[in-house]
Amino acid sequence: MEIFRRLGISGRLRAAGLPAEAPLDVVICAGSLARPLARHRYPTVAELLATTLEFNDGTRPLEPPLILSQYTLEPLLREEAEATPGVSVRFGTELVDFAVAGGAITAMVRSGGRLRTVRADYLVGCDGANSTVRQMLGIELNGETRQPVRQALIYCPDLYERLPVGPGARAIQYHVIGQHPCTLIVQDDTQHLALHAPAAGPPMAALFEALAGAVAQPLSYKMLHEGEWPQQLLLAERYSGGDAGGAGNGLGSLGVRGARVLLAGDAAHPASTTGSLGLSTAVADAADLAWKLAATLEGWAGPALLASYEAERRPAAAEAITASFARAVAEEPWSVDLPEVELGYRYTGSPVIAHPAAPPPAPFAPTTWPGARLPHIWLDDGSPLHDVLGTGFTLLQMPGATTDRGATGFARELAAAFGRLAAPLDLVEVPSAAAQAVYAGHRLILVRPDLHVAWRSGDSWPDATALAALVTGNLREPGDVAGEHGVADERRRVDQRVRDDHRVGPPPAQEQRAEDDSHHRVAEEPAQPLVQVIRAAQRGADRDRQPRAHA
Ligand SMILES: Cc1cc2nc3c(=O)[nH]c(=O)nc-3n(C[C@H](O)[C@H](O)[C@H](O)COP(=O)(O)OP(=O)(O)OC[C@H]3O[C@@H](n4cnc5c(N)ncnc54)[C@H](O)[C@@H]3O)c2cc1C
Repeated sequence: MEIFRRLGISGRLRAAGLPAEAPLDVVICAGSLARPLARHRYPTVAELLATTLEFNDGTRPLEPPLILSQYTLEPLLREEAEATPGVSVRFGTELVDFAVAGGAITAMVRSGGRLRTVRADYLVGCDGANSTVRQMLGIELNGETRQPVRQALIYCPDLYERLPVGPGARAIQYHVIGQHPCTLIVQDDTQHLALHAPAAGPPMAALFEALAGAVAQPLSYKMLHEGEWPQQLLLAERYSGGDAGGAGNGLGSLGVRGARVLLAGDAAHPASTTGSLGLSTAVADAADLAWKLAATLEGWAGPALLASYEAERRPAAAEAITASFARAVAEEPWSVDLPEVELGYRYTGSPVIAHPAAPPPAPFAPTTWPGARLPHIWLDDGSPLHDVLGTGFTLLQMPGATTDRGATGFARELAAAFGRLAAPLDLVEVPSAAAQAVYAGHRLILVRPDLHVAWRSGDSWPDATALAALVTGNLREPGDVAGEHGVADERRRVDQRVRDDHRVGPPPAQEQRAEDDSHHRVAEEPAQPLVQVIRAAQRGADRDRQPRAHA
């Protein structure tokens, strides 16, 4: 939600979601909704909002949670995308094939039965768990696929209204225990409900009638969807195509270079999660990648900036998968809160962050430790610090910084170094007592466009030119910028972690699907293999006639 606020749309999303007064409690029932056994109390959004100004210690997110079903969120995001200048949204268009040649992507897409080619500088596969892009790059998945669960979407307009009355009787989730365990999740309009149940058991309609019929008679409902939900806890071994990443499309000596092709969201980490980890991780991927791609296209990023996307986001996805796994096997999954995964992830192995030598503080202690998300505080005038950040980098001048000659001199040098790179940097004074307390000991804090801290001042001043080069990915030899910088081999560490937690390698079903899909792809369009399009493109034959798109 903090990321959506940066985009200026959190208010619009909130207005479309579950009302702020609706309870977010979790209820455990014996067999039916009429027999509640225990209630796990959580504050409502209205309660959180009422106390929001009382907490100014960096422990609370700027935006409280929001229950917003994905089928409500996505049309709103589509409208926002369509209203954004320079963005062209093409629904009903399928990526069929692609290759990279001559430093650009040529993608073949199918729309309304017609095949066309599209040229782009970059391609981001945000194409979900069965990602075509990932499969074409030959990127494998590590982790585990568990037994699928059944999932149903039910329209039952008056069940919520007829749930037992009384203080906090309504809830957002009902975990039914007993002979036929299942979970009922109230959707944002309270008229739609999702029902999750183990693969084996009575039909979903019978389950629903057994648990809801006891509180609502006659029970009038419509089963809108029933399906299986594969329970995957998988992580792509790479987030972009490397030099060796062949698409298996017969390009042969033309070669396929995948470095301009990246994965984001479920394409990179197919993980069947509840509690917002799947969507939050996907949105945070996009927030990390978007400004780096923009910087690269604008020309002020060095090569390390785009490369840092995987170094930062892959470990964060591994954390989310591990947390999902812990929740999946917990005896009381509803009691597993994950604030450190949702808000406390830190980019410890990033090559574009000036890492301190000291170890990071405990997970989700509010901190400006470089790599962490900037904790939210209210300024003295009641506005949130996040709202005064610029759209590029922001150098926060903490109380005392503007009268400290060392700090003012360094701020000037850093601004000049950013200017030489043509990289955007705003200087923002932070007149706030809370900032003094929460961000103690650091006169200057450099914040990136995605809210993560890139550097903070310590006892001595680093070389401003080298620091600007480091955080914009322009440092050729990442070295000792602040006298304390080091780069870990994050991929090896993360792989080891996923290997320890889960089975290694792609599950057999996944291998089979990848094979089937590529066969399907090649067989369907034999008359116009992509290799011909690429060769034509390389000769420049029809370059100017093709639509050209950025990522
Ligand atoms: C039943 C269910 C319940 C879930 N519950 C939760 C939950 O409670 N909380 C939570 O956070 N997450 C939940 N998730 C996970 C969440 O939906 C995903 O993490 C999230 O949708 C990932 O977003 P994405 O954009 O990466 O992928 P997706 O939402 O899967 O979007 C991928 C898009 O790419 C398109 N596409 C695929 N191939 C191509 C192609 N070749 N060409 C063009 N387009 C293509 C697809 O049509 C789709 O529109 C749930 C998922 C399921 C299935």
